[in-house]
Amino acid sequence: MTRAHHTATESEVAYLARALKAPRIGSDYAAIAAQARDGSWTYEEYLAAVLSVEASARAESGARGRIRRAGFPQIKTIDEFDFSTQPTIDRGRIARLETGGWITEAGNVIFLGPPGTGKTHLATGLGVIAARQGYRVAFDTAAGWITRLTQAHNRGELDGLLKKLNGYQLLIVDEVGYVPIEADAANLFFQLVSGRYERGSLIMTSNLPFSRWGECFGDITVAAAMVDRIVHHAEIFTHKGTSYRIAGREGVLPSVVAERQAH
Ligand code: ADP
Ligand code: MG
Repeated sequence: MTRAHHTATESEVAYLARALKAPRIGSDYAAIAAQARDGSWTYEEYLAAVLSVEASARAESGARGRIRRAGFPQIKTIDEFDFSTQPTIDRGRIARLETGGWITEAGNVIFLGPPGTGKTHLATGLGVIAARQGYRVAFDTAAGWITRLTQAHNRGELDGLLKKLNGYQLLIVDEVGYVPIEADAANLFFQLVSGRYERGSLIMTSNLPFSRWGECFGDITVAAAMVDRIVHHAEIFTHKGTSYRIAGREGVLPSVVAERQAH
């Protein structure tokens, strides 16, 4: 190939990559071509290598977008979780959930236990993995979901919101039980849960055992009906022990207490 030819082809590839909105093809095809010549790749091998650069970059930016839009309060990963502090949480059971199959089957995952024991951490970790796998995920606290549902209801847009939420394969409801829920709001929440039954997944966290959900939903019948649907296809984890936040500061705590007592 003459020099002029070569340059013409290069600018044509650059132009075509832009036209296809595939910038990584434009930026990487020449370096991959050099590798291909060295390795005597077939045309098919070269094409696959060039396309896979674009495909994996797109998958990565898609994952980043889904994670951003999910609204996690903080990004936490399962890898960062120290399972030795939570012997009742089986690493293997969590690992099986990391495959994401439970979301395809519209199953649920529940984390119950005292504050600071890693419920939000694990809920977020599973949510981040799901978003990476291509599932649409949305995170909010129970109070946050109730606010959204109530506002939509007041504007006559509840059906629209519920329909939109059906577009998410996974909803995370954090902190059930921290804030008591009015009867009307509990009913809206019940509609959300029952609408997802066997259709979409939920991760829920709560400081209250199921037997006490009636207290925060203000209505034992609604709470019982809801728990019934949630636990039908659910993996339930019960955290134990004291707060990790406090445990991590064991050395600091006595001096803080001493300081407080001094005042
Ligand atoms: P909860 O939701 O149960 O109140 P969090 O998940 O918010 O608790 O945990 C409190 C803090 O402690 C977070 O920063 C979390 O990342 C951390 N944490 C809790 N348990 C663990 C653990 N076993 N390993 C690592 N970090 C943990
Ligand atoms: Mg929490």
